[in-house]
Amino acid sequence: MYHSSTRHEEDQPCHLKILEPDVCGRRCAEEYGNPCQYFCPAAVYEMVTEGDGLKLKINAANCVHCKTCDIADPYQIIDWTVPEGGGGPNYEGM
Ligand code: SF4
Repeated sequence: MYHSSTRHEEDQPCHLKILEPDVCGRRCAEEYGNPCQYFCPAAVYEMVTEGDGLKLKINAANCVHCKTCDIADPYQIIDWTVPEGGGGPNYEGM
């Protein structure tokens, strides 16, 4: 993300863990309409159609580490963990 100068190693393990991935494509889609797609300011979460169902795709390298998802997820199944190697935003000039 340009404004935050966020940098991550692209091939590092995902620092955003979904504790119960089955909830996303069914229960959350029906009950809340997958709000993670809208509350994340960096478009990290994307619901994609795969086969005959919906699946959560995580674009972890976009993350600006605001931790909104850790708080706003209605099921509390998104676990934000510290990225490897000190990656993250670098707000130069702020
Ligand atoms: Fe999106 Fe913020 Fe969560 Fe990163 S920490 S995935 S930017 S809501």
